[in-house]
Amino acid sequence: MEGLERSPATANTMSEEEETQLLARAIIEWGVHSQVDMVIEECAELIQAINKMKRMGGFDYPAEGASVKYALTYTALCSEVADVKIMIKQLEMILSKEAIQISYERKLERLKALLTQTPTP
Ligand SMILES: [Mg+2]
Repeated sequence: MEGLERSPATANTMSEEEETQLLARAIIEWGVHSQVDMVIEECAELIQAINKMKRMGGFDYPAEGASVKYALTYTALCSEVADVKIMIKQLEMILSKEAIQISYERKLERLKALLTQTPTP
C-alpha cells in the first residue's frame, strides 16, 4: 500500500474561540456526567487501539509498501488519539484548566529533572 500522504501540519480550520464554544456546547447539551462517561469510553478505545498497534509491531508512520492492515491500524490509532484529545479538552473545561496546567507544568519540571539525572545513551 502507498504510504499515507504526510501533509505538513495543517492549520486548524476552527479558531480557538470557536473550538472552545463548540466543546462548551457539547458539555451543556449532553451534561457533565455524560461527557465524563465519554472520557472513560474514549480512553478505553485508545487503550485498545494502542494494543492493536503494538501487535502490529510498532508505532512508526506507515512507510511506502506498508500493509493495508498496518496503515488502517495506524489511522485508527490516530483517530482515537484525536477523540481523547477532544474529551481531555472538555475535561479541562469541566474541572479547571488552570489547576490542570499547574500540575502539568510541575510534572514537566519533574520529567526535566529526571532526564537531567539520566545519562543519554
Ligand atoms: Mg473513539
